[in-house]
Amino acid sequence: MVQFIHWIRRANFLRSLHRSSGLGQPLVFLFHSERGSAELVSHRRYSDIQSLPLSVDNIMASGQQPSSRSSFPPQTYHNFLVLDFEATCDKQLMQPQEIIEFPILKLHGRTLEIESEFHMYVQPVVHSELTPFCTELTGIVQSMVDGKPKLQQVLQMVDDWMRKEGLLDPKVNSIFVTCGDWDLKTMLPGQCQCLGLPVPDYFKKWINLKKAYSFAMGKYPKNGLPLMIEGLNLQHIGKLHRGIDDCKNIANIMKELARKGFTFKQTGSNL
Ligand code: MG
Ligand code: MG
Repeated sequence: MVQFIHWIRRANFLRSLHRSSGLGQPLVFLFHSERGSAELVSHRRYSDIQSLPLSVDNIMASGQQPSSRSSFPPQTYHNFLVLDFEATCDKQLMQPQEIIEFPILKLHGRTLEIESEFHMYVQPVVHSELTPFCTELTGIVQSMVDGKPKLQQVLQMVDDWMRKEGLLDPKVNSIFVTCGDWDLKTMLPGQCQCLGLPVPDYFKKWINLKKAYSFAMGKYPKNGLPLMIEGLNLQHIGKLHRGIDDCKNIANIMKELARKGFTFKQTGSNL
């Protein structure tokens, strides 16, 4: 509570400082309830912040109290695009594998809040029947992929979504984030090569979350998501190996690493 009062005083101080400075642009004081931090921003910057921070007045009215967590550090990207493919598989190695779930979460580069979601199931062509092993592993049943668009169409839908979200604007700096290198180093380029499809450039650089985690925590998470979730004392969301759920867990891990002060950097490239 002491800290809360301190922030209110600081907000009032900054407001009076602004009034006396004669600055033209009105200022807004934002209180981030989850982060437990406060930030002074201009209206223009406020419109850039697409998360839903609570104002000091709202916090006072609701009686909420801030936690003691610190602010996130600035990141070098405007957006992170969390991606996790699920693909056809069997107990033995299946060749070729085909993507059957194509989820992307768009995260704000500073708050790491989810701003938008792309999610499609994809019809496999070579092995059109999912194996019991695959359904057990991913939770994806045959009816979820039957009649769904094929990879070429889904890649076009991804491109349309990227454009709609402003991610194709050259001034917007975004990067994909995956758990491991397999999704963008192996799976997508391999299937595109089989189909004679070009791989868009935005899929050719990425952050491998396992490497980011090992840089931040000093331990490589060999078994991937479960170990990172446990290492950060987070709750697992949904089903492991369901693409969209894996993306949500990746997003939570990223947020926690950012909260600890970690700045994400590119780790892989196919360029
Ligand atoms: Mg994965
Ligand atoms: Mg997965």
